[in-house]
Amino acid sequence: MNSEKSQRHNARMARKKAVIDEKIQASDINRGVLLVLTGNGKGKSSSAFGMLARSLGHGMQAGVAQFIKGRDHTGEEVFFRRQPGVQWHLLGEGFTWETQNLVQDIATARRGWEKVREMLQDEDLGLVILDELTYPLKYGWLELESVLADLTARPPMQHVIVTGRGAPEPLIELADTVTEMHDTKHAFRAGVKAQPGVDL
Ligand code: ATP
Ligand code: MG
Repeated sequence: MNSEKSQRHNARMARKKAVIDEKIQASDINRGVLLVLTGNGKGKSSSAFGMLARSLGHGMQAGVAQFIKGRDHTGEEVFFRRQPGVQWHLLGEGFTWETQNLVQDIATARRGWEKVREMLQDEDLGLVILDELTYPLKYGWLELESVLADLTARPPMQHVIVTGRGAPEPLIELADTVTEMHDTKHAFRAGVKAQPGVDL
């Protein structure tokens, strides 16, 4: 790079840094945030569990609820159950995809939500992950209104992460941070089966 070019580059970088520093200065609110990770692309649950690792690294306590059924124990479940400060709840064990027993599914989901509500009232939990919560919402097993009310009433410093495809609009509106994973390509479509460490 000639010196004129490098001077221009340095000046541009200095301006950029000033803008970013100003934004950092202006961001001085400290509170719990609600995150929604949605979309059809891969990376929703694994992103949430990345934040779980971060939280534990900071000495926080955390709770996880998974609303899915019939899945082998994932690597993250096995790993995080061994860590102090984590409670892990599988709330989908009774879901009946096969038998289509709506009454039973609603009962299972509502029973599960009672457990979630306990976590959403526990000030000791700095992070609560509601993995695949969008499914019981989508099928109407849980009432969106009351779910949103419980999320809103949580302790002010508690972070909550909701994952799952097709997040409903009111949940997206309530959230502070929303990321939509875009499915550009997935090995599954080339016939690769779910790989331990990558997919489960
Ligand atoms: P991950 O747990 O890997 O972060 P996810 O939470 O974004 O994935 P889910 O909808 O919960 O995605 O699906 C879970 C499983 O399905 C994972 O094994 C994941 O690799 C796989 N998967 C995710 N997205 C796709 C896709 N677009 N096509 C095929 N399989 C997918
Ligand atoms: Mg997932």
